[in-house]
Amino acid sequence: MSVNYFKKYPDHEGFYDQFGGAFLPPQLETEMKKITEAYYSISKSHNFISELRSIRKHYQGRPTPVYFCNRLSEKYGGRIYMKREDLNHTGAHKLNHCMGEALLAKYLGKKKLIAETGAGQHGVALATAAAYFGLECEIHMGEVDIIKEHPNVVRMKILGAKVVPVSHGLKTLKEAVDSAFLAYLEDPENSIYCIGSVVGPHPFPMLVREFQRVVGIEAREQFLEMTGELPDNVVACVGGGSNAMGIFSAFLEDEETRLYGVEPGGRSMNLGDHAATMTLGTPGIIHGFKCYLLQDEKGEPSPVYSCASGLDYPGVGPEHSMLKDLGRVKYDVVSDEETIDAFYELSRLEGIIPALESSHAVAYALKLARQNHQQSILVNLSGRGDKDIDFVLEKYGLPEQRQQ
Ligand SMILES: *Cc1c(COP(=O)(O)O)cnc(C)c1O
Repeated sequence: MSVNYFKKYPDHEGFYDQFGGAFLPPQLETEMKKITEAYYSISKSHNFISELRSIRKHYQGRPTPVYFCNRLSEKYGGRIYMKREDLNHTGAHKLNHCMGEALLAKYLGKKKLIAETGAGQHGVALATAAAYFGLECEIHMGEVDIIKEHPNVVRMKILGAKVVPVSHGLKTLKEAVDSAFLAYLEDPENSIYCIGSVVGPHPFPMLVREFQRVVGIEAREQFLEMTGELPDNVVACVGGGSNAMGIFSAFLEDEETRLYGVEPGGRSMNLGDHAATMTLGTPGIIHGFKCYLLQDEKGEPSPVYSCASGLDYPGVGPEHSMLKDLGRVKYDVVSDEETIDAFYELSRLEGIIPALESSHAVAYALKLARQNHQQSILVNLSGRGDKDIDFVLEKYGLPEQRQQ
């Protein structure tokens, strides 16, 4: 990893070696170029940077702490630390890039933010940002997800967003993406499309990474201050890969720090039962960019499953795809069962109820701790688990019930 890493990747066409790019109809291509140019000029300006800094401090409550898990470390060995993104406003890391995207929209004179959402987490974070800036917000969501994720639909409406039901095809995330892109194309002058992770066509993977880098910059400094050294291991869960890119980005050049991206192994490793894109996928194109992809023989994205709805995406960020091939990050899986165990361990030993997405990273950290008693492990705790409590109780029960 050279010092020029962030200048080198992505290249001017949005490629991270063979991955990324923008595979789009001509009209969208023009719009993406405009957003790219605007990003380069606006986001480096003094006003933009100081406004974003102020928002992070006074509205989001940053910096979020790094916390040493005393009881967890005692039980599993090793020294386990959490970067507490669950304490970021709205309870997850997603607001970091939503506030950045919305601030960019404001500087561009846009009136409306448009996005899709699956489980509703991105929709809620974007609706929050829209309320803050006084912008309109339109969230496209499959009808199946609208029923499944009722509390998040209510949250978006309370925050003033318009939720657009999508009723074609399977009525889930993929159709919602198509619908949101069409709505954006109807009025690209006044609206902007805001993606929810380090995925999609260039410039989004770069833009979202840049807005999430604050997590890694803070964490590295805090860890050094607390311990006088760098962590031996950094662990994050990977759906699209935004929270992982956020924390990894600060450690790419620290070759002694090992980086682990954790994917959902779901119910089994049979196709359709997991979302282990890095472990079992092959290069392909989805939503306008190239990445590792779980696909069928025709190259169509295959169905995916995880107990954590924020992780069930058949693709993954292009930068992660490259980091896998470069060997800089090791990608591995944990199962739903291991995830639920970790969810309860962190709740009962530390008083922190983690999101099921983040519980994947915790589960992997516990495995590492068992194997390496002398080492330190820094986990990106991407979000809190309030949203998951009903599902966990209903589907898995309490630990004492599970053991019977
Ligand atoms: C959405 C979400 C994720 C997955 O998204 P990434 O882009 O992979 O970070 C992880 N954790 C939480 C809490 C989420 O809401």
